[in-house]
Amino acid sequence: MSRNWDIAIVGGGPAGLGAGIYAARSMRKTVIFEKGVIGGQIATTADVDNYPGLRATGPELAQRFEEHARDFGAEIIFAEVLSLRKEGEIFVLETTDGEHTAKAVIWAAGAEPKKLNVPGERELTGRGVSYCAVCDGAFFKGKRVAVIGGGDSAFTEGLYLLNMVGELYLIHRRDEFRAQRFYVEQLKANPKARIITNTVVEEFVGDKFLRGLRLRNVKTGEESFLEVDGAFIYIGLRPVNDPIKDYVDLDENGFALVGEDTKTKTPGLFVAGDGRVKPLRQLVHALADGATAAIMADEYIRHLESVGV
Ligand code: NAP
Repeated sequence: MSRNWDIAIVGGGPAGLGAGIYAARSMRKTVIFEKGVIGGQIATTADVDNYPGLRATGPELAQRFEEHARDFGAEIIFAEVLSLRKEGEIFVLETTDGEHTAKAVIWAAGAEPKKLNVPGERELTGRGVSYCAVCDGAFFKGKRVAVIGGGDSAFTEGLYLLNMVGELYLIHRRDEFRAQRFYVEQLKANPKARIITNTVVEEFVGDKFLRGLRLRNVKTGEESFLEVDGAFIYIGLRPVNDPIKDYVDLDENGFALVGEDTKTKTPGLFVAGDGRVKPLRQLVHALADGATAAIMADEYIRHLESVGV
């Protein structure tokens, strides 16, 4: 038997939890589906230092957002949404918790870490190769690690790792960084950190555990081997939009082409957070998106009610 909701939110990251708070406060029967850890990327972020008026660790903030959403009456179900379809005016969600229906859906499934797809990466994941400094950093106390990437994530997580590791090499394929200069300068100033530019990882080398990285300088072609105990990959995000691809326009990278109002081409379906095209992928923006989507969803349901659906 299916359970029926006014607003179903897919994804329990900041966008989904923000939407949950606003949807439940609008007195709508609200559910949030989360397939993994509540808080999404924020739950695996070390320190949040750019949310106005608040400084906390990512996991602390995730817990507060969750409590806040539950306090207002949003229900959280730990299940994966496998597919979504619209039948008449109703959305049907097939989930690992069975079938659910909703009058409106807010897709806030966000994005997953991208893989380098080089030899050794898959085999050594969990054996020295990681995508989460908060989860795995403590295994590398006093040791040598590499961080791969040149964006905000590589630098902020690198700065977090410097609190515990002995030496850190940040490896980036160009000599310019996407990361905010504030973070780049902080990392450069740390005597335990070294930045290697114009360099790519060709292979993660190890047997039971990672031993090092085979590197190539893209300017000179020179190859080298860097001994490390750990490698943290932060090369960007891939949106999780597959289940909605028939109902939403996507750009060439799979991000949903929706504007500030979070509305898709399908009435009643909204996309909030990192899964949509946007100029800024940060906590403040994800929360704002969630709030907007919930208000839009409430407005949409009021319209359905006014025409007697
Ligand atoms: P990002 O900004 O997309 O940066 C990805 C980095 O990885 C880039 O330097 C890119 O190099 C590199 N890269 C991509 N594919 C690669 C490959 N195949 N091989 C080697 N290098 C590769 O991703 P992000 O750092 O994960 O950040 C995602 C979003 O979250 C951003 O909007 C960011 O601003 C935001 N964020 C904000 C904060 C904060 O404000 N505190 C913290 C974390 C994340 P190129 O530059 O050469 O393309």
